[in-house]
Amino acid sequence: MKIDKLSTWPKIDEKKPLVIAGPCSAESEEQMLAIAHQVKENDKVQVFRAGIWKPRTRPNTFEGVGLVGLPWLQKVKQETGLLVTTEVANASHVELALKHDIDILWIGARTTVSPFAVQEIADALKGVDIPVMVKNPINADLALWMGAIERFNTVGLTKLAAIHRGFSSAEKTKYRNLPIWSIPIELKRNLPDLPIICDPSHIAGTRDLIAEVCQKAMDVNMEGLMVETHINPDKALSDAKQQVTPARLIEIINNLSLREEFSLDKNFEDTLDKLRMGIDKIDREVMELLRMRMNVVNEIGQTKKDNNVTPLQIGRMDQVMKERCQLASKMDLDEKYIEDIFHVIHTESVRQQTKIMNDFNLKNKDKK
Ligand code: PEP
Ligand code: MN
Repeated sequence: MKIDKLSTWPKIDEKKPLVIAGPCSAESEEQMLAIAHQVKENDKVQVFRAGIWKPRTRPNTFEGVGLVGLPWLQKVKQETGLLVTTEVANASHVELALKHDIDILWIGARTTVSPFAVQEIADALKGVDIPVMVKNPINADLALWMGAIERFNTVGLTKLAAIHRGFSSAEKTKYRNLPIWSIPIELKRNLPDLPIICDPSHIAGTRDLIAEVCQKAMDVNMEGLMVETHINPDKALSDAKQQVTPARLIEIINNLSLREEFSLDKNFEDTLDKLRMGIDKIDREVMELLRMRMNVVNEIGQTKKDNNVTPLQIGRMDQVMKERCQLASKMDLDEKYIEDIFHVIHTESVRQQTKIMNDFNLKNKDKK
């Protein structure tokens, strides 16, 4: 997949992070201009965002101002020189956004989940060279996210970015949408040229978590931040709890600790190389131990089969998990980390033992 760097996007200066700020929703021309002028005071903000058409969970809530908001975005552009972006969810949104010189489009999380909707938007963009940012789907599905990006790439778009806005989760957490950092990291591993932007607002859901999510995004080397910003957040017509004032945005950005992925210091690189050789050796040993463990698992599987006992015994599984977690805290290892690892290890053991039983059953059937 050919993907262009952020620096090739028209008028984008590749300073890190690329900051996109503006209200969840466009509410009035005055609101938009007031926010835009204030965020512009921080030279890190390059793009102004505002939702014109809002995908709301329930009807009879504010669903965006629609078409009348597009000239307000044009005015923001003229008065401040900021680039402007909005969400498009169907072909008619695309047509209207292009007519109003919107610089960058974004695809919302509720749209990314629908291949039909994504394809419709992609088809409407055929032959247009405009940057498109694709939010992750609501559910934690990397393939669905990549699929949407591929649909845009297939119609010829190469100025693409992904936005991590967290995932819906049945678990109650402190976040509105759980950030699962491993998913955008895996996306980056698959598509190294794809810029990744973090949307701390929809992850956090509340303004006091925004700064720490921004920092985390910088720590995993994401290229940009999209932060919902409002002159009067409490009075915002949508997502009031998670919006920050332009002054707070500037403070958050200025307080970020930015680190580089690589260093030019030779001593540092040498030390890192040595430590990494240590890790490589330990990982090999871990894998050799896993191989040995699997040999014992297979022996147990044979014995279970000979005695007609099921591969999975809930009691034993429970005991393994509990004991490993207890040991974890004694060894100063995070319990959840060890629990997750042993969950994977145990699942694979049961799968191997089930295979032993199935192979045996198949052979016996052939004989009969
Ligand atoms: C938004 O950015 O305001 C929005 C609706 O986001 P998401 O699609 O991530 O829910
Ligand atoms: Mn919002």
